[in-house]
Amino acid sequence: MNIDSKTKIYGLIGHPVGHSLSPLIHNTAFLDQKLNCIYDCFDVLPENIKDAVFGIKALGIMGVNVTVPYKEMVIPYLDFISDEAKLIGAVNTIKNNDGRLEGYNTDASGFIESLLEQGVEIKGKNVVILGAGGAARAIAVAFSLNDVNSITIANRTEGKAYNLYKYIIEKFRTECKYTSLDELIDFDNIDILINATSVGMFPNVNATPVDEKIIRKAKFIYDLIYNPKETLFLRYAKKYGIKNSNGLNMLINQANNSFKIWFGKNFNKNLIVNVLRKKEFIK
Ligand code: NAP
Repeated sequence: MNIDSKTKIYGLIGHPVGHSLSPLIHNTAFLDQKLNCIYDCFDVLPENIKDAVFGIKALGIMGVNVTVPYKEMVIPYLDFISDEAKLIGAVNTIKNNDGRLEGYNTDASGFIESLLEQGVEIKGKNVVILGAGGAARAIAVAFSLNDVNSITIANRTEGKAYNLYKYIIEKFRTECKYTSLDELIDFDNIDILINATSVGMFPNVNATPVDEKIIRKAKFIYDLIYNPKETLFLRYAKKYGIKNSNGLNMLINQANNSFKIWFGKNFNKNLIVNVLRKKEFIK
């Protein structure tokens, strides 16, 4: 990588950002496509988020991804928000379009693409989402836009599950319920069960958001976590022979969709998968 006075800057803003795979993914794609660009991480403190967004414009940074906890907070400082990002209420990709900051969300599309790539049917299915944070909201919206039969939101803090449930029933015609994590034991007919909580993420690798008695009821299991590549949640799926996925495909697809927003073309997904495999993020 040759950095010179013409090198364009891209990056990630969040807090913390130290464990992100985004620099590896995007710098690999830049090298592959011979783009004179570099991707770096910016660890931004909450009190500096407004200045950080204005800094994108002031410094001519070409684009950034936005991660926890700023996906909602950046919205008031942008000049344009895509319809999908508005619906989800969160931005994970900003494009600096000649000084006009545009906000997009690629989490929802990245998630749906990853299911379709694995041959998982969505239309008419009954899905259960564990969690009610930013990722759960993006996924609930994505499912609602893709004609699932029903969505159940189960969360540790029931008030937050209720808020997401209310949001979905107000915006969509999708059948939606909310419940506590424990009450899922009384649920049957779970086509797709998704862990959209941070439970099981490194370093707490021996935790699972729900008991294995609940996990064994599902026909497809999806954990948004990719570090570790096999959470306890997914180990239970394997134990009961249930088809499953970790969060890496979603990560790669949402990164590719950001790349597409910035450059108008796809990156080479196979190359990225191979690079991540070499680094042992993929089996
Ligand atoms: P978030 O907004 O902070 O939400 C976190 C969720 O986890 C909340 O529902 C929270 O419940 C729940 N939770 C946290 N600790 C818990 C515990 N000990 N027991 C039960 N529930 C607990 O985070 P997010 O952005 O939605 O991210 C959630 C997960 O998705 C993270 O692991 C993240 O890495 C992953 N993710 C992956 C991708 C990908 O591309 N693969 C993309 C986005 C996110 P309360 O409401 O009760 O606090």
